[in-house]
Amino acid sequence: MSKMKVRSGVLTGNELQEVFAYCKETKCALPAVNVIGSSTINAAMYAAKQANSPIIIQFSNGGAVFNAGKYLDNTNQRAAVAGAVAGAHHIRMLSKLYEVPVILHTDHCARKLLPWVDGMLEAGEEYFKSTGEPLYSSHMLDLSEEDLEANIKTCAEYLERMAKINMTLEIELGVTGGEEDGVDNSHIDSSRLYTQPEEVLQAYDALNPLGKFTVAAAFGNTHGVYKPGNVMLRPEILKHSQAMIRQERGRSEEKPLDLVFHGGSGSEQAKITEAIEYGVIKMNIDTDTQWAFTRPVREYMDANHDYLMAQIGNPEGEDKPNKKYIDPRAWMVAGEKGYAERLVQAFRDLNAFDQFDLG
Ligand SMILES: [Zn+2]
Repeated sequence: MSKMKVRSGVLTGNELQEVFAYCKETKCALPAVNVIGSSTINAAMYAAKQANSPIIIQFSNGGAVFNAGKYLDNTNQRAAVAGAVAGAHHIRMLSKLYEVPVILHTDHCARKLLPWVDGMLEAGEEYFKSTGEPLYSSHMLDLSEEDLEANIKTCAEYLERMAKINMTLEIELGVTGGEEDGVDNSHIDSSRLYTQPEEVLQAYDALNPLGKFTVAAAFGNTHGVYKPGNVMLRPEILKHSQAMIRQERGRSEEKPLDLVFHGGSGSEQAKITEAIEYGVIKMNIDTDTQWAFTRPVREYMDANHDYLMAQIGNPEGEDKPNKKYIDPRAWMVAGEKGYAERLVQAFRDLNAFDQFDLG
């Protein structure tokens, strides 16, 4: 099969659906990496260029606030909305120069954070009016802590609104374990870490007539990296969910659902490959890339310790200036490079490395 040609810039609407369909066909998935500002955004696009692949770049709520600056008043999520919108414009402007296709997304949004998505959708609708496309490709709602009916009902309301501007919705069924961005699910009843295929069918029936959506179905996946043996991944849940939609609703495709794998950091390669086999097209990665950014920064600090104790004076002489060592760019670029390298590895793990033709 020939490689899919994809243009540079932010992909939305059908372009996004075509990329997902190609991923399922070629059995690859795209990394969805959490960014917190220009440094991580640029490193993510640089990694995608090296991997010759589209990338999913996402802001968590905390990441969007961080992009705006943690000093701002966040009443009614105003800083989170502004940080996410500003980040989107940064990516829209620079992705064309990096010559990479980007799927622009936001991560977990619980009910109390809905004003965040509301604000981003207002900005998206405004953008759509002037350009004919939404600002973001997709947003995620995560109402998995609530009962299934409440979760699906709210998701349906949002999908109706988002479909009007060609946006895709990501939903969560079952609960991702562990802790991320201030949400701690590490003590949740373990049965909730595994989605039932019947729940997926119920969500499908409600959402499929309304628009395009992806499903983060829980199969034991967990945010963060833990000692081996603490996480029991059961990707066959994904296979059974696909089979249920196919059989119960007479869909002819082998994998009618676009599935999302949360908590990809630290996961076993065999389970990743198996999950992709069953229709995972997006795998979130955060903890591993956080470490990949921080580790080289620590190494820089350790290696240059004696040059970082004062502005003047180092082992070469007490009057020697340390300006070039203390310039934050020197250590930030070390972090960026580590982050980009880890992401290139993720493209390989997900079989997305060099699967596309970026022209
Ligand atoms: Zn997640």
